Amino acid sequence: MKKENLNNKDIIKDGDKYLMSTYKRFPVYFVDGYNSTLIDSEGKEYIDFLSGIAVNSLGYSNKRVRDAMIKQAETLVHSSNYFYIETQVELAKLLCENSFADKAFFGNSGAEANEGAIKLARKRAYLKYGENKNEIVSMKSCFHGRTLATLSITDNESYREGYGPHPEGFKFAVFNNIENLESQVGENTAAIIIEPIQGEGGVNPVDLDFLKKAKELSKKFDCALIYDEIQCGMGRTGKLFAYENYGIEPDIMTLAKALGNGIPIGAILAKGDYADVFTPGAHGTTFGGNQMATGAAQAVVNEMIENNIPALAEETGNYFKSKLNEIVDEFEIATEVRGMGLLLGLQLSVPGASIVSEMLERGFIINCTQEKVLRFIPPLIITKEEIDEMIKNLKEVLGNYK
Ligand SMILES: *Cc1c(COP(=O)(O)O)cnc(C)c1O
Repeated sequence: MKKENLNNKDIIKDGDKYLMSTYKRFPVYFVDGYNSTLIDSEGKEYIDFLSGIAVNSLGYSNKRVRDAMIKQAETLVHSSNYFYIETQVELAKLLCENSFADKAFFGNSGAEANEGAIKLARKRAYLKYGENKNEIVSMKSCFHGRTLATLSITDNESYREGYGPHPEGFKFAVFNNIENLESQVGENTAAIIIEPIQGEGGVNPVDLDFLKKAKELSKKFDCALIYDEIQCGMGRTGKLFAYENYGIEPDIMTLAKALGNGIPIGAILAKGDYADVFTPGAHGTTFGGNQMATGAAQAVVNEMIENNIPALAEETGNYFKSKLNEIVDEFEIATEVRGMGLLLGLQLSVPGASIVSEMLERGFIINCTQEKVLRFIPPLIITKEEIDEMIKNLKEVLGNYK
């Protein structure tokens, strides 16, 4: 497994030369993994609390998912949506039978799923009420993707800067502020879009009362309530879908990230008349829902349901949360723990970037979002022992800031 140091340096040097600099990358690359562990090019092992950004929820060596991918690689990877695709049909059925939804559409990423959900909500409003009912209300501190339309519903001005003119008809409401939500939603609203737990925004769970109000407003003005469960869905919060923690169903929900455990796939799920808005030609995709993607995702969903992975995430998450609360008690710079299941954030009063780097040195992959929030989104199969080891090291690193 050990590789030459020189080799390592070439990849990093060539990466800087040949890749667009969209990311400030750590000078590390991984060549293998098992369970919740990644192995870099020099054979060093890391316990992973990032999961490729909430993607590898079943870890790096799930046999069922790997077998499903091998099966597709050996038979058929893609045949286009001009034909029925067995795994796509079965995945749609599986997701619908285990959620609020009646029908599914599959694309290739989270942003694409949200883009499609916006189109769906607008099309329905247009068909029923005409073209004035087109506004999409999203939440402050949300994240919904990097395409032009999803940037318009993402609360980060710097992500939008320089890319204008931007599409129109987008508004923000203050997250968890009922009065403000009421002031933004009205006759012209086509959809309200909410992450039940904001991920990139710093791990902020929605309040039950706020969600109730969003549901009420969506009924009052006959607009779509969309949940973006791209990060918080797929078992991470202790239920298969985060909304189940609240008991309030959406009209439309988007999924991606962990749905394929690493194979790119996104989904739009919809209920009632929303499920029948898209007619032939109204929306489409070349790759979306192909055999490889839906074969892998079908294995992921079956594995999660049959092995009750959401319940495991809840139990491990409760343990993890109690450990993070210990840190809040012990360290002045750690002020709050937020989140559910294995989507947890530790609010700091100082920037977290150097803590992330020091933890990487020590063999732990953690993440920092919103500058001062350490975000923990490990594979859902992470063990309490692995959490203990990470917490022990994190306490040592935080100790240096005392
Ligand atoms: C990651 C993410 C997206 C965007 O998904 P991509 O696959 O990167 O396009 C959208 N919404 C939420 C909540 C996310 O976490």
